[in-house]
Amino acid sequence: MNRPLQERDQRVIWHPYTQHKDMLPPIPIVRGKGTLLFDENGQAYIDAISSWWVNIHGHSHPYIAEKLYEQARQLEHVIFTGFTHEPAVRLAERLIDLLPGGPSRIFYSDNGSTAVEVAIKMAIQYWRNREGAPRRKILAFSHAYHGDTFGAMSVSGRSVFTAAFRDYLFDVHFIDTPTAENLGELSSFIRERSGEIACFIYEPLLQGAGGMRIYEAALLDELLAVAAESGIICIADEILTGFGRTGKLFASEWLHSRPDMICLSKGLTGGTMALGVTAASPGIFDAFLSDDRSKTLFHGHSFTANPLACAAALASLDLLEDPDCLRRIRLITERQVAFATRIREYPMVRNLRTLGTVLAFELNAGKDEYTNTVGIKLTAESLQKGVYLRPLGNTVYIMPPYCITEMELDRVYEFLIGFIAKGA
Ligand SMILES: *Cc1c(COP(=O)(O)O)cnc(C)c1O
Repeated sequence: MNRPLQERDQRVIWHPYTQHKDMLPPIPIVRGKGTLLFDENGQAYIDAISSWWVNIHGHSHPYIAEKLYEQARQLEHVIFTGFTHEPAVRLAERLIDLLPGGPSRIFYSDNGSTAVEVAIKMAIQYWRNREGAPRRKILAFSHAYHGDTFGAMSVSGRSVFTAAFRDYLFDVHFIDTPTAENLGELSSFIRERSGEIACFIYEPLLQGAGGMRIYEAALLDELLAVAAESGIICIADEILTGFGRTGKLFASEWLHSRPDMICLSKGLTGGTMALGVTAASPGIFDAFLSDDRSKTLFHGHSFTANPLACAAALASLDLLEDPDCLRRIRLITERQVAFATRIREYPMVRNLRTLGTVLAFELNAGKDEYTNTVGIKLTAESLQKGVYLRPLGNTVYIMPPYCITEMELDRVYEFLIGFIAKGA
């Protein structure tokens, strides 16, 4: 008999964001269907966080699987310089039609972090290609999260996650997300430095990994207007907010301002394959057209525009555009708002907020709050109840796949009410 998978894992695997000294044995998952993940013993867990926010149509979706299989039999991969293929072109055409701001070009990469790297490199080189004295600085929000590679880390809020690399991260102007009180101050800050700021990267309306922080569209709109006025390239990181999460297809649709670039990943393939997209406006693209070869965007990855990933993304878009999916997004949105009203008065609940299909709050957990063990406790208890939740510190959130049934959503809610009713 083979050793148990958990034991084999513990010998050879190095898990992400995991302190192996005191980690709990990982749960072997053998199968997924809809919202459910099944372990070796047949125990089912409702994936209430969409497996790190990527899985929007449920696990092992038969339609996406079918399209993947067809593509795998046809063409699994081909180098993407000097060659092209239908799935990449079709996906670019469809994204260009859907994305706000009228982008004209789609650049493919491998994941969210690389989509951000590409956007930053495009913005920096844009100024270099255009002008003798290029703009060098980048503007970003505190508590931002844009990924784990060096460029993406540099434009993310500084925290314990980036501390070891602090000396290697480039200098970024960080500003707070806008409030009615600080808007004037932020606007002047941007205006005063407009000549040196190449680009502004932001997570529209919802800062995910930084703590599910929601901020107001109208205020972001005002900041973006100031940035645009100053010629600053606006980069919307919609890696989390894209594909229906906030109740619109893209969070930028809640705004009047239009981004110059958009980064996509996570829900792009329905959470099936790793794929990143950086969409660029005609103005950005044109700055790279030149007889001078040094103005080329010298960036690419081995798996750029992988046909399997593009096929999965096309299938995911088909599902997303089905009116039934849009109806379910609206239903989840309503259910989240109704649940928020139910738990508002619990002493353990603080800063309750919802945006589209996302609900979040902080746990008032006494001294526990500082060591964040309350979040770990919540995960352990949720798993015993057949629900999977994974708070960020003491920030609890629900971000379900759109296919979640009303009964499944009720089970998530009942678990949470049981947890917060007990108190700290
Ligand atoms: C997850 C995330 C990223 C990074 O994507 P990866 O695929 O994990 O590299 C970047 N930006 C935002 C807003 C994200 O949520």
